Amino acid sequence: MARRKLRIAVVGCGSAGPAAATLLERAGHEVVVFERAPECRAVGAGFLLQPSGMAVLDELGIRGAVLERAGKVERLHVVDRREKTVLDLRYAELGEGMFGAGLHRPVLLHFLLQALQVAGVEVRWGAEVADVVRCDDKWTLTMADGGREAGFDLLIVADGARSALRGKLGLQGSDRGYAWGAHWFIGENRGSFPEHDLHQIVQGTRKLAGFLATGREVGGMEPLVSLFWSVKLADDAAWRAKPLEEWKENVLALCPRSEALLSQITDWSQILTARYGDVRMSRWHGDGVIVLGDAGHAMSPQLGQGVNLALADASCLARCLEQLPLNDALARYTQERRLTLAYYRFATRALTPWFQSDYEWLTPIRHVYFRTMQHIPPARRFMTKTMAGLVGWQEGG
Ligand SMILES: Cc1cc2nc3c(=O)[nH]c(=O)nc-3n(C[C@H](O)[C@H](O)[C@H](O)COP(=O)(O)OP(=O)(O)OC[C@H]3O[C@@H](n4cnc5c(N)ncnc54)[C@H](O)[C@@H]3O)c2cc1C
Repeated sequence: MARRKLRIAVVGCGSAGPAAATLLERAGHEVVVFERAPECRAVGAGFLLQPSGMAVLDELGIRGAVLERAGKVERLHVVDRREKTVLDLRYAELGEGMFGAGLHRPVLLHFLLQALQVAGVEVRWGAEVADVVRCDDKWTLTMADGGREAGFDLLIVADGARSALRGKLGLQGSDRGYAWGAHWFIGENRGSFPEHDLHQIVQGTRKLAGFLATGREVGGMEPLVSLFWSVKLADDAAWRAKPLEEWKENVLALCPRSEALLSQITDWSQILTARYGDVRMSRWHGDGVIVLGDAGHAMSPQLGQGVNLALADASCLARCLEQLPLNDALARYTQERRLTLAYYRFATRALTPWFQSDYEWLTPIRHVYFRTMQHIPPARRFMTKTMAGLVGWQEGG
């Protein structure tokens, strides 16, 4: 049955926003994206795109172009300080041709924007939405500069982990956050790290270094690698007041082969600090409104699912809107996403302290647990499936 054409406002042009906008414009709706950044300027660390996220890129028609610039990650390999394996999960466990894609954020955004453009979506850059009000079944958006945009049937809130709009919708939600975050840097690999691994080194629960093959920039040739170094957020300022060399010595002590990567860092300003959200909502929809991506379920990146879940949210919403009238579709969205999002939020929340916390007593338990589990094939397969973003995944509905 033909559905009513909707006028849709999408707030945020990160991952969930442009993916949803493209799919909905293609389905015949009229979509406008509001993004506060003044221009297309993706910042952000390298990230791991999982098979679940790749399936949505397929729907968007950009999978091939994105993957061409990706590092093909075949396994997650976690070792301790003495290089003894703590965890070794291989995508091949799930079938031939399975892999994760190490990517630079601007690469994904570049191709998401191409898809937006081809679909004909209107994007307003430099448009920060300060407030939203629903009246007579229509949304009115108030911009930070005082301007107003009215007449939207559906409001999609995809404004990221630190969403300012989430709290204005009358939906219950909270963000507990984490005491630990990460210092991160992207540089040239120069042959230092395996290009098919997400390599992590742990020492207790207070020290963790991660090195992710990150592929290449849109116009670049050099393979990149992302460095993640665990940091307690309360100590961030103190670290930054110290000489950079002291920080580098710490990383080097845990991972001597990071020397060539560290030599590319000459100033603290090259190192960014990531804070992790922990957003919980009892439902993601209200009357004519839906919250997608990090705004609705930000997690620590311990399981590397944020972009994948954001893309899957977009796909699920488009599918629900294709099948049902507006508010029924939004309720169906919450119903369809509930289990997957609850599982990943629970698993992430439970796992993070094992790798980033002051609870050093967890270390021996972690080592025994993972070393045992990965020798039990069904358990190892489930852990790999979790990593690949495939728990609860329903491709194409
Ligand atoms: C260190 C780190 C490592 C990570 N690693 C991974 C990984 O390996 N794999 C993975 O899948 N995920 C990873 N993530 C998570 C991932 O980056 C996020 O989950 C993902 O970007 C969420 O997409 P989003 O569209 O919901 O939000 P975002 O990408 O944050 O986009 C939100 C957009 O909304 C805009 N905006 C905000 N407020 C307004 C407003 N009021 N008006 C207009 N525009 C607004 C912002 O400018 C932004 O462009 C990682 C995160 C961190 C911090």
